[in-house]
Amino acid sequence: MVDVFSSLPSIGRKTAQRLTYFLLRQNEDFFNKFASSLIDLKKNVLFCSVCFNYTEGDPCPICSSAKRNKRLICVVEEPNDVMAIEKTSEYFGLYHVLHGVISPLEGVQANDLKIRELIARLGDVDEVIVAVNPSVEGEVTSQYLAKLIKPLDVKVTRIARGLPIGTDLEFADEATISRAIEGRVEM
Ligand SMILES: [Zn+2]
Repeated sequence: MVDVFSSLPSIGRKTAQRLTYFLLRQNEDFFNKFASSLIDLKKNVLFCSVCFNYTEGDPCPICSSAKRNKRLICVVEEPNDVMAIEKTSEYFGLYHVLHGVISPLEGVQANDLKIRELIARLGDVDEVIVAVNPSVEGEVTSQYLAKLIKPLDVKVTRIARGLPIGTDLEFADEATISRAIEGRVEM
């Protein structure tokens, strides 16, 4: 169990041990709930075939909501980022999850990301907001997307630099994310 916990992101050996001892102190009910949640997670959670966010139903609740502005798409790196932006309650467009950024050093090419799927969605879209993280790879990916999307007569904007370089969206507070979206600039 300690080995399993240690293999999770940002969990060290010590925390893994603490979690294991915590589990040992729990009752049968807790164990049943914990185990069935784990099994359901793999069984019931899939990718939305439109935006590629995690979902239990396809298309996801955001893509199928009548309340969202379908002419606006916010492009993010990971599903976590959707959650971070949703927390602001100030963005009402749709999303598109790339599942990474272009990174020649790590061998990630444009074709490895959900970029083709993004382009295929742009028929009735007015604006694409690029909200990838402010890293070198994020910058390269943004420029690549702008070059691809602008000729399709779709406005491409980049969220403002309220986010310090190297800060992931998922770690930024809601006010900072809201300001960054509001202050987006055309590419
Ligand atoms: Zn979706």
